[in-house]
Amino acid sequence: MTLKTLLPGTTGATGQQLTLGVMGGGQLGRMFVHAAQAMGYFTAVLDPDPASPAGRVAHYHVQTAYDDEQGLAQLMQRCDAITTEFENVPAPALLTLGAHRPVAPGAHAVAVAQDRLKEKAHFVASLPTSGIAPAPYAAIESDALLAAVPADLLPGILKTARLGYDGKGQVRVKDRAELATAWDRLGRVPCVLEKMLPLKAECSVIVARGADGQAVSYPVQRNTHVDGILAVTEVFDGALPAVLCEKARAATIAIAHQLQYVGVLCVEYFVIDDGSADGALVVNEMAPRPHNSGHYTQNACDVSQFEQQVRAMAGLPLRAVRQHSPAIMLNVLGDLWFPDGAHSKPRSPVWDQVLALPGTHLHLYGKLDARPGRKMGHLNITGGSVAEVKATAQSAARLLGLPALA
Ligand code: ADP
Ligand code: MG
Repeated sequence: MTLKTLLPGTTGATGQQLTLGVMGGGQLGRMFVHAAQAMGYFTAVLDPDPASPAGRVAHYHVQTAYDDEQGLAQLMQRCDAITTEFENVPAPALLTLGAHRPVAPGAHAVAVAQDRLKEKAHFVASLPTSGIAPAPYAAIESDALLAAVPADLLPGILKTARLGYDGKGQVRVKDRAELATAWDRLGRVPCVLEKMLPLKAECSVIVARGADGQAVSYPVQRNTHVDGILAVTEVFDGALPAVLCEKARAATIAIAHQLQYVGVLCVEYFVIDDGSADGALVVNEMAPRPHNSGHYTQNACDVSQFEQQVRAMAGLPLRAVRQHSPAIMLNVLGDLWFPDGAHSKPRSPVWDQVLALPGTHLHLYGKLDARPGRKMGHLNITGGSVAEVKATAQSAARLLGLPALA
């Protein structure tokens, strides 16, 4: 269904307060709900987990599986428009919803983002003249394709085509023997073998695009991962070469336009060492939703990625974004609750001391049990200068028991 402007605080087509819905009740859904509520919308979440972070704060929580027909019908009854907070929502469910309600992003865009092969083909089609391409790769879907892998893709990384995240569903392989073993280990599901590239840095860009084709991009985020999970995002002048940032923003907008995307999209890039001073961009993957690397927008920009998600699905204007402070985001994983080891009794991090530092903004997701590796929250740090933000981030990292920042 096409999108009409949904003015907050009015009565919707359902005869009830205008309500925005989200498929998925994780932390991204929760922050979407917070942004929608701040603007005066009612909210609904579909997630089977009764304790889901977003379900706990939404006006309505439909507790069924994502492909449950009755659950989808209930969500549609409640909502005037629906979005998603994770890319593994079954595309057929989005098609069902999309037949009756505006759904942003649509099933097609989500289906492309769910499959690394479709995603790479989409990048190639979107970026014909930019000089930016995916890492060299081959599809691994049969023994014949496995045997035919060109030697120059090794050493490489074997990734499942679907359902991978935070470094899961990936195996690093040095040679053909390791490749064959790794494919067995991954259950011989369709995979992509990517050449291992010499990374200088990693970055990502958030764009928001409306149904009218208007698109706005955020400044480029520099990301540091630890064990496959995002640990630190830095966004300020000088974090990355300006030329690369301009290219990455333009490429991300082109990728969104080519998909006819509506909503918030995040595209991840590698900066690889090609012998030049700046390095070169390689496009890695995309997420059809707000992204962990975009959380700094909540405190360092005049409009957050979650507010843009609300605006895009409600047909409201997407205006140019202003970053008003340099920013560093520290991801808060459950490990911080276990300073004495994973089997010790959990202990809360010293938030009182962290929040005594200037420019610290804590976002916890309301998850009751801390577990190592679990995303519990994030800390945004803003300030008057890059030096101040870096100093605060170092102090916060020290208080939290995180490794010193580079
Ligand atoms: P995920 O869905 O788990 O985020 P990614 O494809 O982003 O999967 O890979 C996770 C991380 O692994 C990347 O952030 C990067 O650090 C590393 N990585 C992935 N692909 C490559 C590659 N081709 N060359 C070098 N490092 C890579
Ligand atoms: Mg990634």
